[in-house]
Amino acid sequence: MSAHNREFLALLQKASAAIGDHAEEVAALDQAIGDGDHVTNLRRGLETLLRAAADWEAMDWPDLLQKSGMSLMSSIGGASGSLYGTLFMAMGKALKAPEGSAGSLAHGFAQGVQAMKQRGKADVGDKTMLDVLIPVAQAWTAATETQSPPAVTRQAIAEAARAGCESTRDMVAGKGRASFLGERARGYLDPGARTSQLMIEAIVRHLEGSA
Ligand code: ADP
Ligand code: MG
Repeated sequence: MSAHNREFLALLQKASAAIGDHAEEVAALDQAIGDGDHVTNLRRGLETLLRAAADWEAMDWPDLLQKSGMSLMSSIGGASGSLYGTLFMAMGKALKAPEGSAGSLAHGFAQGVQAMKQRGKADVGDKTMLDVLIPVAQAWTAATETQSPPAVTRQAIAEAARAGCESTRDMVAGKGRASFLGERARGYLDPGARTSQLMIEAIVRHLEGSA
């Protein structure tokens, strides 16, 4: 198994475990302002991907991400399936493009988030996972541009994810099922924002441990 593949599987496992540990909390949020299936959808998608990715031994990062996007798109389902699928596929594509700053994961992630914005026709303030992913992309890009040390970059990413997730609590939703609830969605974190933040936090923690 290649080092890429091993690291990718380790990151996925951590993300998946974090979602499993918070399954009840996320289910309750999605029952309150969605249709209750978000955490089940996501767990199914992550488990399917973990099984499939174990065989993707010789792949480089761009291919791993593109294949993961395809897997997530077909196995998560719901709004979040096509959105996560788009994020991973676009990120893989950006990393592959010769004009993309080679090896710059921050650049690829920003491109992926941009593609997700277009796909979901959503932006910051719509009470979705983009309220986490957009600030994370900005924080990561900014840290890369200022050549921040890895520990500082990780801290900035985790903090952007935490603040972005928390910001959804007082929002009414502009997109997704919660938008049908109007004012009744206020007071709850967006379930997709929470799961994005949990996965990002788990990945950052893992990288801290292995740095
Ligand atoms: P569904 O809403 O189809 O049941 P899920 O329950 O899997 O899908 O996912 C719900 C999450 O998807 C929401 O909490 C929100 O974060 C995210 N979401 C929904 N619509 C959009 C959108 N247009 N753009 C970005 N994220 C969205
Ligand atoms: Mg749902």
